[in-house]
Amino acid sequence: MTALLLTSLRPWGGAPADLLIEDGVITALGTDLPAPDGARRVDARGLLALPGLLNTHAHVDKSWWGKPWVSYGGEATTQGRIAHERAERGALGIPSEDSTVRVMEEFLRHGTTATRTHVDVDLGVGLDGIASVRAAAERLGGALEVRIVAFPQDGVLRRPGVLDLLDRAAAEGADAIGGLDPAGIDRDPVGQLDALVDIAERRGAELDIHLHDGGSLGVFQLELLIERTVRAGLQGRVNVSHGFALHDVTGSQAEELLAALGEAGISWTSVAPLNRGRVPWRAMRAHGVGLGLGTDGIRDLWSPYGDGDMLRIALNFAQIQGLRHDEEIASALHLITRDSARFVGRDQHNLAPGSRGDVVLVDAENLPDALLRAPRRELVVAGGRIVAEAGELVGR
Ligand SMILES: [Zn+2]
Repeated sequence: MTALLLTSLRPWGGAPADLLIEDGVITALGTDLPAPDGARRVDARGLLALPGLLNTHAHVDKSWWGKPWVSYGGEATTQGRIAHERAERGALGIPSEDSTVRVMEEFLRHGTTATRTHVDVDLGVGLDGIASVRAAAERLGGALEVRIVAFPQDGVLRRPGVLDLLDRAAAEGADAIGGLDPAGIDRDPVGQLDALVDIAERRGAELDIHLHDGGSLGVFQLELLIERTVRAGLQGRVNVSHGFALHDVTGSQAEELLAALGEAGISWTSVAPLNRGRVPWRAMRAHGVGLGLGTDGIRDLWSPYGDGDMLRIALNFAQIQGLRHDEEIASALHLITRDSARFVGRDQHNLAPGSRGDVVLVDAENLPDALLRAPRRELVVAGGRIVAEAGELVGR
């Protein structure tokens, strides 16, 4: 048995306590906990403790992190970015296990201990990207837990053969299969959604669909997805990524749409894009529409932005939404921790017995202070193992 006893940490910024992790799982939280024989003991010196951060929308296979700077060369449209990426990625050696390891290390360094990542599946790379992400996660000893969405970045129906790849990915254990703008890219929303739902039903996979189409075209596709989710009994197993249409709806249309999404158990993951403005977040919560936050790709052929720090993403979200009161600012931290457990396939994720031993310590007065300054991660524990100290990786 391996045991780690963290003493004098302040869970969620509250009163000091000790936390015991045994064999990778939190087994006790209390005061003056005795250290089991052979336990490693670390004094947390009153630092504020959060559960490990959860990145619910990433693309760890796409990045050129760790390589010399690559100037962005594509058109700014979705189509332009797809074409640019397909033309350039081979020369950069993407996807590569090494680059994926570098991205995952950045996640861990910033306190992210689990991620839901989309991994490109297309006629060029087949399922190689998924194998490479799995190998990268293994190289890090499983410190970063990875949930995989097989993602048809180049389209589905418009590329005959991609559906078979998605089916194979699901058969070989991908947690979810993705989709991409059924109208905007495939120009056949009913066809793409029916085909994806069919695979999800047959293989028992979840669905996680990228929907950049905004406005009424996006809303229409959300309605099609709601119908199919309910009909196939996939409630609680379908997510919409980006879903820019949700930034566009207002008033009674928003209420009706969110009520239907909530009833169908369809969740939404966002990267809190600065240029899209607010979403009806309070109404989403009221209707039980699950919300996760993520970094999206960082430093890749789609966009040079991003550094993998979920505190910065949550801060963007809080700022865009205009959160001001302490409890609301704290809720942005809940979004990137305990409230997103199901996006990474967990029943619970908290500083509590039964949760994986994922802990992040920061030098902050309280939760709003921790979010607004996004301070250095003083200690990161992933699955009971110390992986970063004073903002840097250890034990590599
Ligand atoms: Zn994405």
